[in-house]
Amino acid sequence: MSRPHVLLVTFPAQGHINPSLTFAKTLIRNGIQVTFATSLSAQRRMAKAASDITNDITFVAFSDGYDDGFKLSDDHEHYMTEIRNRGSDTLRDTILDSANQGRRITCLVYSLLLPWAAAVAREVHIPCALLWIQPATVLDLYYYYFNGYGEEINNSSDDPSWAIQLPRLPLLAKRDIPSFMLPSNSYKFALPSFKEQLETLDAETKPKVLVNTFDALEPDALKAIEHYDLIGIGPLIPSAFLDGKDPSDKAVGGDLFHKSEDYVQWLNSKPESSVVYVSFGSLLRLPKVQMEEIAKGLLECRRPFLWVIHAKENKEEDDELSCLEELKQLGKIVPWCSQLEVLTHPSLGCFVTHCGWNSTLESIACGVPVVAFPRWTDQGTNAKLIQDVWRTGLRVNPREDDTVESDEIKRCIETIMDDGEIGRELRENAKKWKNLAREAMQEDGSSTKNLKAFVEELGDCC
Ligand code: UDP
Repeated sequence: MSRPHVLLVTFPAQGHINPSLTFAKTLIRNGIQVTFATSLSAQRRMAKAASDITNDITFVAFSDGYDDGFKLSDDHEHYMTEIRNRGSDTLRDTILDSANQGRRITCLVYSLLLPWAAAVAREVHIPCALLWIQPATVLDLYYYYFNGYGEEINNSSDDPSWAIQLPRLPLLAKRDIPSFMLPSNSYKFALPSFKEQLETLDAETKPKVLVNTFDALEPDALKAIEHYDLIGIGPLIPSAFLDGKDPSDKAVGGDLFHKSEDYVQWLNSKPESSVVYVSFGSLLRLPKVQMEEIAKGLLECRRPFLWVIHAKENKEEDDELSCLEELKQLGKIVPWCSQLEVLTHPSLGCFVTHCGWNSTLESIACGVPVVAFPRWTDQGTNAKLIQDVWRTGLRVNPREDDTVESDEIKRCIETIMDDGEIGRELRENAKKWKNLAREAMQEDGSSTKNLKAFVEELGDCC
């Protein structure tokens, strides 16, 4: 019998590549062959930045029509058509080539925003599974949106008395709902893609969805959709930072950006639990007025901080922060870092995060309390879970124009870091969830067992 061979396809964004690549490594540790496909531009950047990608993964690149890289200012709808057409062709060719080389693909796993990958799998009669890289709660929300609750969500209101109670989910206010579902959403490509994704799942009986979460974290959300089989297999985080099964696995290895080298020494020089880490992920670019408020808030806290600020594609003179010199005296600004290395450093006190799902799970797995500072997509939902369900952080309250003022940022940081009752409770909860995340990844833990069952089924398909 031949070895199972998974073709893993991912959207070329950092928040998609990281969990997918970690999943690929997990499959390889379980004896599965993996071919990893994403766009040419992402693979070129990964190759430049990476030194940690295992040789066991076969990489396949496809053009998405934007080989010099897609910019947020480019035409999203054109991009989605190009990636679909060109990506589908490459997947078909890869499946054919692999069979000709005697390494038949036995299962296709695809991540978010690529529902067309499932159509290719169907066409060539290969089983497939979705790798859902947001919380199960968010998948449930999209499901409810397209199954009876769309109108109620469309009519959501900022009125504090408005809330929606969906089966097996916490009571949600408008700000807790994924922004792509709201009428104010300006990223028009997104909702049709999620709709197509759910229709693709609905066409199967009990489709399998591998979710980057763990059973104890979202016990109800994982069971909310009767027609789907949601399987918690996370947190998808390099082994050295979580279960220690492979201590040499200290990085995802798919960075699209060059990290600084000098922040570890700086962190080493700081007292235990003293540093505020600030990062808004790989995509967000905050307006200047918001950056100034964050800077002011950090200066007013008078605590050491490490702040990730990306180099802008088109730098304008006006971009420079007005208090840059003062900031540099108190903290450190870097264009990119190894976030997991930072989150596990003993000097770390709290994490000011945009609540991207990877950052959220990483904060949980590392036991770091957070200031939740969501901006768009699933981040509002993640912030709700952080503040009200897992109680590992505080969410900022923006003013009406959506800017979060320095005083509010300071309030949240201080409440988490000082010795008051709330701070103590948040830090204890963060520790509790860290232990539960590790338990899920132990040999007899829920995610390991769920993954093993999936791996066994892969064997049955050979
Ligand atoms: N990240 C990193 N270094 C940085 C900033 C981010 O390694 O300086 C990683 C972070 O650990 C996470 C990913 O980039 O795995 C960002 O994913 P997330 O879902 O949090 O946000 P997105 O970038 O998709 O908005």
